[in-house]
Amino acid sequence: MAEKRHITGENAADRMTYVGEVFTIGERKRKRDILAKLPKEWSALHDGGDIHIHDLDAWGLTYNCLAVDLREFFPYERFNTLSAEAKTIGLFDFLKEFLTKLGNEQSGGMAFVNFDIEAAEVLERLGIPFEKINDALLRAAIASFYVWCNNSHERMGKVSYYVSLNIGLAETDYGKYICKIILEEFAKTEATIFKPNIIFKVKSGINAEKADGGYSLFQKALKTTARKMIPTYLLCDAAPNKDIAPFKIAVMGCRTRVVADKYQKCGSVGRGNITNVSINLPRVALEIDKSGIEGSESRAVRFLEVWDNLAGTVSEILEARYKALIDERRADDFRTNLRYNLWCVPFNGDSLDEVFRHGTLSIGFIGLSEAVEVLTGKKMQKDKKALAVAEQIIKHMRAFTDKKTDETRFNYSLLATSGEQLSGRFTELDGNRGFTHKALKKGFYTNSFHMEVDSGLSAFDKITKEAPFHSYCNGGCISYVELRESPINNAVALEELIAHAVERGIHYLGFNFDMDICSKCGISGMFDKCPKCGADEITRVRRVSGYLEIVDYFTSGKKKEVKHRTHNRIEDEEVE
Ligand SMILES: [Zn+2]
Repeated sequence: MAEKRHITGENAADRMTYVGEVFTIGERKRKRDILAKLPKEWSALHDGGDIHIHDLDAWGLTYNCLAVDLREFFPYERFNTLSAEAKTIGLFDFLKEFLTKLGNEQSGGMAFVNFDIEAAEVLERLGIPFEKINDALLRAAIASFYVWCNNSHERMGKVSYYVSLNIGLAETDYGKYICKIILEEFAKTEATIFKPNIIFKVKSGINAEKADGGYSLFQKALKTTARKMIPTYLLCDAAPNKDIAPFKIAVMGCRTRVVADKYQKCGSVGRGNITNVSINLPRVALEIDKSGIEGSESRAVRFLEVWDNLAGTVSEILEARYKALIDERRADDFRTNLRYNLWCVPFNGDSLDEVFRHGTLSIGFIGLSEAVEVLTGKKMQKDKKALAVAEQIIKHMRAFTDKKTDETRFNYSLLATSGEQLSGRFTELDGNRGFTHKALKKGFYTNSFHMEVDSGLSAFDKITKEAPFHSYCNGGCISYVELRESPINNAVALEELIAHAVERGIHYLGFNFDMDICSKCGISGMFDKCPKCGADEITRVRRVSGYLEIVDYFTSGKKKEVKHRTHNRIEDEEVE
């Protein structure tokens, strides 16, 4: 009986429990209620697909995501009387308990800023010196934590928690050892385990170069990526990050980045995104196309005017949502935040504003590639002028969010939206509006500022072309290199690509390749029929929205994107 079950079918069943079903019904109703309550103009923009208000159900209830430092809130006293073994297991039990509670208190992800360093210090403070670590036990605890992150579909009764571990900067023996086993144990997990998200921070002087103490960890990270697509790489020496202390910066798996703060708490620790709204860039371009304005230049100018107008409304929406959050909620409603004092400033009485003002309000965007194609008739990956228009647009959008930060009391940022749920939704709604431009034909819009997934660019070219956009997207972005197959014997190529990315100014980089897993014997590779046991029940794991997912669960737009992907060659490339 067991052999007959499809792994995919089993997971799908997990995702719709009784609790999950009731949550989903409530979620839908709440979204409708919120839309009915908002000014008609705003609801119409969302319903019509000009914009997307993310996590609408959380309106007035909670913020989006948060990055924390474990050392600052770990309940050491609770562990005082335990044996060293119980403390080791207890650390990871605590993490599961903590993430479950926090994960149900907010709408988005949870990240540890330097998990290897933090875990090492916690263990040391618990009275377990480096010399006395029980290696087997600690490895087992970490492996079990991975299984939990991946398999616990407890969040909303249907999905796992969005957990991100930023690692790589450890310099002590203890920290480096934790980093090493985090990577080794992840590489060893069975093929269907692809959570938590692990982000390896690359920094010269610490791990980027051969002479650096952590270089072997960087190598280990690359080998793990070659097997599992995880970790992804936060490039601390790249232009957008080089002026920030590397220990203070982290990203969420979904790519959210929180750094600047007008209230003097710069960095990611104890801060997060409060809320974000994404703008459908192709829609703006399609309207201009329809209006009959001629000439690329005039069309681009008009595009920016229309975008400004839309972004003005989006800012009103973001600020109204922020106000609803601090007016309708009390510190008491955030029990885990409160108990562990997770934000960069303490919750003080009931003024949530004192705390949440350190978060960001983000304006996101999707489909820069299609918008430029509609405006100029050219594809930005092929045409220099089209690429220049793309840069003009992104520069303008960032100037807008910077101006908003100056003029208001909020930390605005520009987010390169991943497009989860969005890319297919916008295309469909644009089709419903009667637009028939060829840029709509493939059925999805390209993620943020990315070059099209079937651009056919070499990996080096893709990095070179996308790099300039990274400095503008201070609310988060990522570039991906799509590889033909798992680069299992080619970690050197990954290292060269990372060096090129740092030089060009890529802030965050990931490597994707097709990962097909045999549901019967568990081997992974790229196949329709298992080469080992001949089974044809295959689970297909792909990354399309920051987190790895099984293809069955993708939205229709994302499924179409997966079909369109071509690979970025890494063979025989010359770095300029
Ligand atoms: Zn097999």
